[in-house]
Amino acid sequence: MNQFTVNSGTLYVVSTPIGNLFDITQRAIDVLSQVDVIACEDTRHTNKLLTAFNIKNKTMSLHDHNERQRQEQIANMLQQGQSIALVSDAGTPLISDPGFHIVRHLRRENLAVVPVPGACAAIAALSVSGLATDRFSFEGFLPSKSTARQSVLAKLAEESRTMVFYDAPRRAIDTVADIVSQLGGARQIVIARELTKTFETVHADSAENVLAWLQQDANQLKGEMVLIIEGKPRDPDAIPPEAIATLKLLVAEMKPKKACAIAAEIHGVKKNALYQFALDMK
Ligand code: SAM
Repeated sequence: MNQFTVNSGTLYVVSTPIGNLFDITQRAIDVLSQVDVIACEDTRHTNKLLTAFNIKNKTMSLHDHNERQRQEQIANMLQQGQSIALVSDAGTPLISDPGFHIVRHLRRENLAVVPVPGACAAIAALSVSGLATDRFSFEGFLPSKSTARQSVLAKLAEESRTMVFYDAPRRAIDTVADIVSQLGGARQIVIARELTKTFETVHADSAENVLAWLQQDANQLKGEMVLIIEGKPRDPDAIPPEAIATLKLLVAEMKPKKACAIAAEIHGVKKNALYQFALDMK
């Protein structure tokens, strides 16, 4: 297999490991070795990664505070034919990490931006959570203050998709207590802590049981964690709003029985449930 060769005038968005260094990809190593410069959140942190892979290359800082200033500079460097890698301290850049402003700017300037995919804590946690993965929402970091956190959680109480959050384990007891108060103690949650590292722990249970578990074991309040909350379970007898909208239109034009049969066919809903709804509507 040949080494991957970088193109000039291209920004490579390179994922790096979230713990276990073996999770770096060969393509990431090739790109980091060949680009003209590596833009990184913390040059000292990235230099440790480069040293581990025996990569000798130039770095430049790119973090939340200088990202907007850097975007013109990076665009100019690419226009002059340089190739650049963008990395964050760990995982996939832009995912709760810097890079969004740069990538948006370069896309608007029609410059080449290429992903070099790899580790991402949210996706790693989701993949082993045992919660539904067909539809999910990534919610980033929860607020550190309880009032703001409760308000975010309250707004998500009806969300039916699996929800993925980043949070600090030292706040885990307070966060899970807020989940119990806002979403109920029966809601299933998963704590995925220290993924790919020595003390990797994935614990799934109801919110109230997870709260008790955290309160008994101070070790669970260390390191880094992803928190996943099961979406609100759907009531199998609930009639979807689209079916109700269709039913209302049809009922104005035809007998309720026929309207229900058509709406049930279109939306895959039980005819009897719709008929009962149509009767209640009168
Ligand atoms: N861009 C990164 C990614 O792709 O996962 C995320 C960066 S964000 C600043 C850092 C947060 O990601 C941590 O606070 C934690 O919530 C989560 N995280 C990172 N590494 C982790 C790990 N090894 N285990 C569990 N969570 C992790």
